Amino acid sequence: MCNDCFNNEIYSFETQSGFDEFNKLLDKKTLAKKLLIIDVHEQNSLSILDSLLYFQCLSCSENWVMLIPDYSWRGSGKGYFLTNDNAIKHHDELHKYDRKKTFLGILFLIIIVILSLMLFV
Ligand SMILES: [Zn+2]
Repeated sequence: MCNDCFNNEIYSFETQSGFDEFNKLLDKKTLAKKLLIIDVHEQNSLSILDSLLYFQCLSCSENWVMLIPDYSWRGSGKGYFLTNDNAIKHHDELHKYDRKKTFLGILFLIIIVILSLMLFV
């Protein structure tokens, strides 16, 4: 992280306009050749996911990952702009949360099935 790229990471873009503002700044930095858009497909475990863009700072060599937000219903979320390491960690956290939700959903279904069996048998 440095002044040529970004000094802060963004864990979520709360609004479309907030993202647009950030995107303009990012465009400026890529056009000024401070940040390079890189293609790390195949090297990065996150590359299987769509909507990810990778950047490398030419001053400090930091690798950045951006997830483009999707605010539509059932969209992939509010996106982020993180260093590569933190993006991987962040994804793991989101996956843990998803697994927990799935587990609770299944548990709830089992309870419903047991309750209806008790009522109707
Ligand atoms: Zn930098």
